[in-house]
Amino acid sequence: MAQTRIPIVGGNWKMNTDSSSGEALARNIAAGFPAIEGVETFICPPFPYLARVAGAIEGSGVVLAAQDVYFQESGAYTGEVSTAMLKDCGCGAVLLGHSERRHVIGETDDLINQKTHAALDAGLTAVLCVGETLEQRESGKTDAVNKRQLLAGLDGVSAAQMRSVVIAYEPVWAIGTGMTAMPDDAQSAHAAIRGVLGNLYEQETAEAMRIQYGGSCKPSNASELFSQPDVDGGLIGGASLNPDDFLGILQAAAKS
Ligand code: PEP
Repeated sequence: MAQTRIPIVGGNWKMNTDSSSGEALARNIAAGFPAIEGVETFICPPFPYLARVAGAIEGSGVVLAAQDVYFQESGAYTGEVSTAMLKDCGCGAVLLGHSERRHVIGETDDLINQKTHAALDAGLTAVLCVGETLEQRESGKTDAVNKRQLLAGLDGVSAAQMRSVVIAYEPVWAIGTGMTAMPDDAQSAHAAIRGVLGNLYEQETAEAMRIQYGGSCKPSNASELFSQPDVDGGLIGGASLNPDDFLGILQAAAKS
């Protein structure tokens, strides 16, 4: 029997907003979200605004998430933030291995795996991001790159823990560029990702997993992307900074 998956849409604010514009954005999303049924959502403000945004979304059902975390519990790790700190600020989820962390900051698969374990051990939802560069796509390596990032990122993660994992497939060439994967291409990558999960875990586990699409998703292209059978919502960057656009994408996911 086909599995029913509740779509999930995340807003990644990246290094944008300030404390008052971030709070206003969160309040607008929190005001519109309760009227949209059949979709889950999380928003990822910059670290300094997490606590203030937590207050703005309280009771709305919008989950607070962080853009990153470090795997150590505490200590001499200047500039880093622990899972306990995120939870103290009200976070329920965290992004791991976002392409900007991989390709701009230089995070390795091994580090991302350590962060994934730390997030899951702390009871946070782990949103593990994978995706190929343009060069990798053009040389036919999309599925191989996604597989490598999944196997490494999920190394040692149990089937039970997978209930707290969301995968975000984000082709690097589509992030922040205005270029979006064709719905067929997104579906093909998502189906291959689900296939990898099915080989790693039971088929039932793979069927239950939410796989988000990310990369220049906006209200005008969200419905077509989300109507693909293996696309279970999206991870949204630029369009998540506009509450009407973000709520429009949530509506598209709810209808998918
Ligand atoms: C992202 O940051 O995860 C993202 C998908 O960005 P954008 O929607 O701006 O391409």
